[in-house]
Amino acid sequence: MSSDTTEKPALVAGAGPVGMTAALALHARGVDTAILEAEPEDRDRDGSRAIYIHGATCRILERIHPGLGKALVDDGLVWPTRRTMFRGKEVFNRTYDSPGGSGDIPHFTSLPQVVTEQHMLDALDEAGIEIHWEAAVETVDSSPDGVTVETSDGRTWETEYLIGADGGGSTVRKEIGAEFSGEQSENAFIIADIRDDQVDEDFEGLERLFHYDAPEADGRNVLLVPFTGGWRLDIQCYDDDDPEEMASEETMREFVRDIMGEEYTDKLEWISSYFFLQVQADTFVDEHRRVLLAGEAAHLLAPFGARGMNSGVPDADEAASAIAVALDARTEAVAHDEVELFAARREKAAEFNIGAAGQALEYLQGEDPVTVLRKEVAAELADSFEAAGEWLDDAPYGPHEAPPIVSSGNY
Ligand SMILES: Cc1cc2nc3c(=O)[nH]c(=O)nc-3n(C[C@H](O)[C@H](O)[C@H](O)COP(=O)(O)OP(=O)(O)OC[C@H]3O[C@@H](n4cnc5c(N)ncnc54)[C@H](O)[C@@H]3O)c2cc1C
Repeated sequence: MSSDTTEKPALVAGAGPVGMTAALALHARGVDTAILEAEPEDRDRDGSRAIYIHGATCRILERIHPGLGKALVDDGLVWPTRRTMFRGKEVFNRTYDSPGGSGDIPHFTSLPQVVTEQHMLDALDEAGIEIHWEAAVETVDSSPDGVTVETSDGRTWETEYLIGADGGGSTVRKEIGAEFSGEQSENAFIIADIRDDQVDEDFEGLERLFHYDAPEADGRNVLLVPFTGGWRLDIQCYDDDDPEEMASEETMREFVRDIMGEEYTDKLEWISSYFFLQVQADTFVDEHRRVLLAGEAAHLLAPFGARGMNSGVPDADEAASAIAVALDARTEAVAHDEVELFAARREKAAEFNIGAAGQALEYLQGEDPVTVLRKEVAAELADSFEAAGEWLDDAPYGPHEAPPIVSSGNY
């Protein structure tokens, strides 16, 4: 081993929420690890992104680093009201007395991803897990005995196991020869964050609002969701909209004024446009069962139903669990099987989650004449039949079911 080669029993590529969870989950199981991250420590992580965090995700984080799940709950908020409009008319409005349930971890919490990541960084610091910044993984060479990794800072790493949590453009995925396949959403979505310092758990009027064919957005679908410190505004483009023009500051200020009111136009904090990919790697492990993919390195989902980070966290936890058992295994076959089981479970879960997010996307894109008609009939009936309004309220987020496989999270 040369002097600039470092050895670790397990390494993680990527300091996104999934990579940080993986490192904490390895540490919790007594496995010494470190994170290799491409970006510098003072990077900007823009946008609210994963605001909807399931209770199950918080429980995993609490289990692997006591205090972490509760910190997200303390900083987040639970909106009590679900409201839906259809072409300017209210079709559903329900406020829950106890929206989070009765336990100390609520059913969900809403806070910007950057805050979640800051808590994870603090947890890594407390656990003494190092992040090597500006150390992008460039090559991954696996063998039956372990993995050699080269990083952009000129270092070489030897490890027994590598978790690839390096996001959608994953180098680790490419290096093990895994390939993404799947589809892309037909139309773009514009997503913006609007700052509002008054929004916290005690703010009056905390509601999640979906508006079908909103007149204020020239007939486009609009979703408005509160999180601690602001609102997320999500506008579904028409097929012939130019996403770049739609996401320009000038156009978005007009949308914000018309949808939220004049006082919010100066509070636009972040705007982005997306065509959502629904793709999955053809394998989550390398041929030697030494490299494991997790989170967006393994699958990309449309965000309706909030299955992205909420499935990446169980990927990471289960990858860490498989590695901990494999490292202690007395036979190679047992170690091999543990990693294979991880892949089998999480590939099936991803398939299921992509299907669920796909149903939400299909419903929203609304080309199917039966779906279009069902929405119109439900809106007509909503005044007399609450179930019709409830269906309209629920459908944009896809089915609620979890993958039919035991997992440490919901998804
Ligand atoms: C608009 C929007 C809304 C969303 N809403 C939700 C939601 O409500 N709930 C939810 O659960 N999910 C949501 N998501 C999804 C969520 O944001 C992602 O699932 C999550 O960020 C994925 O985390 P990750 O760690 O896998 O990848 P990333 O966050 O992309 O992190 C990957 C990390 O790897 C690093 N990296 C890249 N290449 C290398 C390399 N070669 N070597 C080392 N490091 C590397 C990157 O710099 C980055 O730090 C949303 C996403 C979007 C875009």
